[in-house]
Amino acid sequence: MRIGEKIYQTSGLMFGTNSNTYCLNTREGLVFIDAGFSEKQYRIMREQQKRDRLAGKELLDLFITHCHFDHAGNGWLFQQEGAKICMTKEDGEAAGTGSCVLLENLFERKFRRYRPDCIVKDGDAFDYGNVRLTVLAHPGHTKGTISVLAEIKNKKVLFTGDLFTLRPCTPMDELQVEPGWNGSPDYDKDKETATLQRLMELPPLDMIAPGHGSIYLGDSRKLFEALCDAAERKLP
Ligand SMILES: [Zn+2]
Repeated sequence: MRIGEKIYQTSGLMFGTNSNTYCLNTREGLVFIDAGFSEKQYRIMREQQKRDRLAGKELLDLFITHCHFDHAGNGWLFQQEGAKICMTKEDGEAAGTGSCVLLENLFERKFRRYRPDCIVKDGDAFDYGNVRLTVLAHPGHTKGTISVLAEIKNKKVLFTGDLFTLRPCTPMDELQVEPGWNGSPDYDKDKETATLQRLMELPPLDMIAPGHGSIYLGDSRKLFEALCDAAERKLP
């Protein structure tokens, strides 16, 4: 479903799946953010691509925000179809070795291993003509978690994976935001705290697109302030 100029959401709650995946329709071809979890989710994504009239376009790159099963599980399917997988060294190694940080136990199935085609790090930029992407290292949730900043014309969109989830607003329309799950074997509280602080340094964003739940079109600064406050309350 088109959610912004050149930006499509291809799975998530509104399609009956747990995690969100996104597709950018660039001049060079299709670029994806996160792979989703199961073959069922992959089918849903492909059907949505058809409805969005994106079927048949070349699959270029897939950026995986982190290696947890619900975001990285379908990487092998994308790779099989010709997409180049872009991941950090840390989380890419996990996807290649079948490490416990993939959370196979939690998802009760075997992770199909794969090796990333492109190792990305903080500040790496990718130019697709009408879309420019920058990788931001945001570790904490996992060792190699990234966000992806997209610049499309004069708009800035941040794909944030599991840095946080938005909860329904209070009856008084107050934003409720929760820091990402902290149960991963490689979760690091200090890195998470530094990452949340780093979000405050970003320029104002036009859209924030997380890995679960709803996208956010409001004031990004307010969201990040609420997130830091929530994290302070949560993390002793
Ligand atoms: Zn996660």
